Amino acid sequence: MTRKIQSIRTRMVSIPLERPLITATFPITAIDTVIVDVHTNDGISGLGWVFAFGRGRVRGIQSMIDDIGGLIVGEDAGHIQRCLQKMRNACTFIGHSGAAIIAISPLETALWDIAGKVAGVPLAQLLGGYRDAIEVYASEGLWLNQSIDELQVQAASFVTRGFRGMKMRAGKPNVDDDLARVAAVREAIGPDVKLMVDANQAWDVPTALRFIRNCEEQDLLWLEEPIYHQDYAGMARLASQSSTPLCVGETNYAIEDFRRLCQEGCGHFIMPDLMRTAGISNWMKVAHLAEAFHLPITPHLFMEVSSHQACALPNAVWQEHQPWWEPIWKEPVDFRDGKIHIRQRPGLGVEWNEDAIKEYLV
Ligand SMILES: [Mg+2]
Repeated sequence: MTRKIQSIRTRMVSIPLERPLITATFPITAIDTVIVDVHTNDGISGLGWVFAFGRGRVRGIQSMIDDIGGLIVGEDAGHIQRCLQKMRNACTFIGHSGAAIIAISPLETALWDIAGKVAGVPLAQLLGGYRDAIEVYASEGLWLNQSIDELQVQAASFVTRGFRGMKMRAGKPNVDDDLARVAAVREAIGPDVKLMVDANQAWDVPTALRFIRNCEEQDLLWLEEPIYHQDYAGMARLASQSSTPLCVGETNYAIEDFRRLCQEGCGHFIMPDLMRTAGISNWMKVAHLAEAFHLPITPHLFMEVSSHQACALPNAVWQEHQPWWEPIWKEPVDFRDGKIHIRQRPGLGVEWNEDAIKEYLV
């Protein structure tokens, strides 16, 4: 029997944050999200979601999802690659990055959720299966707008909650302030907890080198996106001179971009993002590509999906733990002992909390 895609529903929700966050790139006051449900003609449904900062931009993405989603209605829900190709082809004219590609991601993800439900296995198993749990690092805090005291208190609280790694942001106007903040967090968590620093592309090569030369004793697991994500030559130069491993990739879209990152030696960890790789299939291709270069991959955000992906890959390390969407799930991911454990449920294993969605609907 052919299982056909019958309808697609998109809704926009705005999940408020208790306190605005500041990164080197932009302030974040709410997590504006498009949630997507794909329904088949035999009553199975799959879900996906994407987000951006700014309701107008998110509305634009929602409108793209509605348009592109229309193209796969009537297709066989099991033909995920065919649907992906059809949606990508439709975007050739407006380009294979930005809103067009982001719009494909939740639709493609929903098809994998459906495939898992049809097979009766968790997505991690459907993708090949390698482990049942993945180590996570806390990423919900340690922002640029926190004082050193606040950083130390919060960092210690993550350790208490069982995290064995955490990420802080850098990109203050003066890099010496960043160095002082990193030293303060390291002091608060001790030598055994892994610490990552994300500069969100704030620096040029000389500034990044100044940071790297002076943070050596903080023993960072990685420095993330030190410079602009398209400056491949700069990243390669930096990576070759850096005593701290670099993590790159979250802002890159195409498989060809990732080939450059790997081939040109731009980083030591590759970080694909689910919405910028257009969903699960291409994200997995990026992970396999990195494996061919003997590089580890570490998932960007989307822990509810990407923990499954990481659990299907021998070269995956450290899922980012970012609970921004926890308020709209019926049940949060299974976080214990510093890890996300895959639940033995078909597909993604998560469901919307419809009461919460009503509350946040825009
Ligand atoms: Mg980042």
